[in-house]
Amino acid sequence: MGSQLVYGTKNFSLETDPLLACSCGHLKCDKRVVSLDTLEILQYMRDIRGKPMRVTSGGRCPYHPAEQGRTDTDHQLGIGVDIACTGDVERMELNKLAVAVDVDALGVYDNHVHLAWRDELPGVLWLGKSK
Ligand SMILES: [Zn+2]
Repeated sequence: MGSQLVYGTKNFSLETDPLLACSCGHLKCDKRVVSLDTLEILQYMRDIRGKPMRVTSGGRCPYHPAEQGRTDTDHQLGIGVDIACTGDVERMELNKLAVAVDVDALGVYDNHVHLAWRDELPGVLWLGKSK
């Protein structure tokens, strides 16, 4: 017996956040997972915030319904996560935090924010509609 190695960080792991991996259910799904680098930034945000952040989507394989006909998206590359939010106050709080930790891609939706770190300048911002 010893400590088991768990993929993730203090507050974000496959055990507590199974949606960090693709869960599309396709036979050919490779269940790809968000990168550890991305999770470490997310953890940093979580530490500053001091409140839970719920991942609603992380890694996605090309067979995921939201990825049809798309290549090299943040989700496919494992550098993007969607975080649930309810209401303008929480959305604003998450957006401010994301900017504070140098987010490169920020998608603002009514029920989640999309965050990705692409190492690109100047970054992209969009307003999306949840399906
Ligand atoms: Zn999949």
